[in-house]
Amino acid sequence: MSRFIDSYNRQINYMRISITDRCNLRCVYCMPSDGVKTVNNKEILTLEEIIRIAKIATDLGVRKIRITGGEPLIRKNIVYLISSLSKLPYVEDLSLTTNGLLLKQYAHSLALAGLKRVNISLDSLDAEKYKSITRGGDIKEVIEGIKEAERWGLTPIKINVVPVRGFNDSEIENFAYLSILAPYQIRFIEFMPIGDKEFWNEKRYITTNEIKERLLSIAPLIPVTTEKSGPANYFKFKDAKGLIGFISPISNHFCFSCNRLRLTADGKIRPCLFSKTEIDLKSPLRHGASDEEIKRLLRLSVEIKPLRHEINEEDSLCYLNKSISQIGG
Ligand code: SAM
Ligand code: SF4
Repeated sequence: MSRFIDSYNRQINYMRISITDRCNLRCVYCMPSDGVKTVNNKEILTLEEIIRIAKIATDLGVRKIRITGGEPLIRKNIVYLISSLSKLPYVEDLSLTTNGLLLKQYAHSLALAGLKRVNISLDSLDAEKYKSITRGGDIKEVIEGIKEAERWGLTPIKINVVPVRGFNDSEIENFAYLSILAPYQIRFIEFMPIGDKEFWNEKRYITTNEIKERLLSIAPLIPVTTEKSGPANYFKFKDAKGLIGFISPISNHFCFSCNRLRLTADGKIRPCLFSKTEIDLKSPLRHGASDEEIKRLLRLSVEIKPLRHEINEEDSLCYLNKSISQIGG
């Protein structure tokens, strides 16, 4: 096995694979009410193409795979995909990020297929507010999905919350209380300047520090080191069953320890979420490229991986004119 190391000596061992750019929700901070432009179905990688790229990436050194989208659970034959990926010899960690709407239906078969755990996006604990933030989502489905995921051992359950000022920031404390009662990792993710341009506004962005200060007024936060903490910094309240995580791509970016590549649903490698450069794997794949040629393209994408994103280099945050659903969250 070759070493998969970028120009800044970072070991690349994690691939986020987007398997669709479509979604069954329209979260206000992610996309406009009429959705975003999606690519033609023929341009989306087939499951066999995804499995082949994943296999080649694991030969190079990728050990962790996260499936995402759009909403990955709306992709046909998702269970087959998970089962095939889980059988790849070097895959040590296989997880999935979902809005949870279809989790009740899929949790059991995904767990049997070899999925290890799920991250669930849930931006409000209030049914009406959830419906309005997601433009139509039913929180009951998500809660039932979370319970089903717990039941089949897709744990630790990680709940992703994007606090947006004026929308769900009044619930920050409620989410923190949930970490006391349930064994969930509640992860507050800073709202990034990407998604619906009409909606993005720097005033809506809330820093990790602001959230932390609010939580500290409830009780001390005890730092916790977890085995697979990734970019999140974890804390807990004394005697809590769960944890509170902070993911701070803007106020305290974690680029210097970034270990990931992203594969978009239409077959492009993005060395960084905010990259302006993508490397197309789909065309070579569909024109008969050998595994060795795909390996060279993957190595190239690692070679050009930037040291860091630069969205907060200017006085104001630079906006990326895309939705995370189009890249893979
Ligand atoms: N549909 C799935 C879901 O919602 O979990 C997976 C894809 S979604 C694009 C992945 C993650 O990106 C979600 O946790 C979502 O909250 C997050 N996200 C989307 N737009 C964001 C933004 N502008 N800032 C921060 N996080 C964002
Ligand atoms: Fe869909 Fe996830 Fe974007 Fe919400 S955050 S619109 S669930 S892709």
